[in-house]
Amino acid sequence: MKCTDNGIHEECGVFGVYGVPDAARITYYGLHSLQHRGQEGCGIVAWDGRRLNCIKGEGLVTEVFNTDKIAALKGTMAMGHVRYSTTGGNCIENVQPFVFHHKTGDFALAHNGNLVNSAALRRYLESKGSIFQTTSDSEILAHLIRKDSREGHLPRIKAIKEALNMLEGAFAFIIMTENRIYSCRDKYGLRPLSLGRLGDGYVISSETCAIEAVGGEFIRDIEPGEIVCVDHHGIRSNRYSDFGHHLMCAMEYIYFARPDSDIEGCNVHNFRKLSGRLLYEEAPVEADIVVGVPDSSLSAANGYAEAAGIPNEMGLVKNKYIARTFIQPSQEQRENGVMMKLSAVRSIVGGKRVVLVDDSVVRGTTSKRIVKMLRRAGATEVHLRIASPQLVSPCFYGVDISTKEELFCASRTLDQVRKELDVDSVHFLSKESLFKAGKRSEFCLACFTGEYPTDLYDEEESL
Ligand code: SF4
Repeated sequence: MKCTDNGIHEECGVFGVYGVPDAARITYYGLHSLQHRGQEGCGIVAWDGRRLNCIKGEGLVTEVFNTDKIAALKGTMAMGHVRYSTTGGNCIENVQPFVFHHKTGDFALAHNGNLVNSAALRRYLESKGSIFQTTSDSEILAHLIRKDSREGHLPRIKAIKEALNMLEGAFAFIIMTENRIYSCRDKYGLRPLSLGRLGDGYVISSETCAIEAVGGEFIRDIEPGEIVCVDHHGIRSNRYSDFGHHLMCAMEYIYFARPDSDIEGCNVHNFRKLSGRLLYEEAPVEADIVVGVPDSSLSAANGYAEAAGIPNEMGLVKNKYIARTFIQPSQEQRENGVMMKLSAVRSIVGGKRVVLVDDSVVRGTTSKRIVKMLRRAGATEVHLRIASPQLVSPCFYGVDISTKEELFCASRTLDQVRKELDVDSVHFLSKESLFKAGKRSEFCLACFTGEYPTDLYDEEESL
């Protein structure tokens, strides 16, 4: 769980297991490793040889499941989901996976991401007779698959391909039928999804840290525009799009993903550490110590300190035992929460010139409070170094980054940012350095640039 709770939330994580005894228990451990991607609800569905059984609820994985519930989910094939809150609101009906019954066979699905044409697709499907059980946009894919199966008598893989081609936006889907699991990524590659081997079976996960946690071995990432099917034939790959870009969400590296995950061949800790080094190269400053904001900025602070040749100190400590109320997604709770979650260590920062390294500035509230804390604890100078560019635009791809009006840097010059945050100097990492840190030439950077890789549809748009 991210300590600073700076106002950015990933919305979901997905996990699936095929061909492994006790698949639901493995899924439970997998979801536990993906808990940082969503804490509001979770669910697991397993195939027991006759039917799909699903248990889900609001809360953390350890709160929703116990030994008896896991034991009730029998079978060698299971999938699960952890959720923040997606489009559609925060209620039990929207907790995934969703299970659908159809004359061509039952299936379950779970989704990470956000569709930008969901309103238009929903209207279209309702006009064709679809009845939605939830307000979540993830259910749309299920209706599109059922529509194609019904109208065109298409084999399921063809129905899935046609359905995916109608979706616009960000998604990593896992679809489970009675005998196989399909894993699909959007054609832009905005959200991560990886495949691993586990014993004689397979595991699919939003992040590689969960594959590792269950004792699996990473095989490869699902490609943008690809559907990977695992069943008794092994692994089969299908493409539904040849768009050919790898526009991975840069925020996955900067903030969301666990440092022990590898995304598209790049370890998240290494990315952040190199960002910190590049941050120093872009904006060196005379100082005594470097202090990272726990947890997601510690790797970048490490990189900055190494490059600067000054100590990286634990000048901010987080309270690990914070009550769950402080991670609820209400602005007031978030703002009140930061004082409870972090303390500045007077004996470390007192009388020191501090380089404060953080991953991002969202509403500015958290940064202001941390700077105040450091000054109150005796820091003589505070130089803020942010390991990402200024956030200036909202995200439409499944990340809750607030509105443009609320984004602190969207309406302020660098000098205004410095003055309002009460720091001696401030620097944001350049986009060029993000590419260098990731050793790649493409990213989604829309929340930093306002240039979105997809069309953006609005509520009124029709098909
Ligand atoms: S807009 Fe930002 S948060 Fe959203 S997918 Fe792109 S990089 Fe990630």
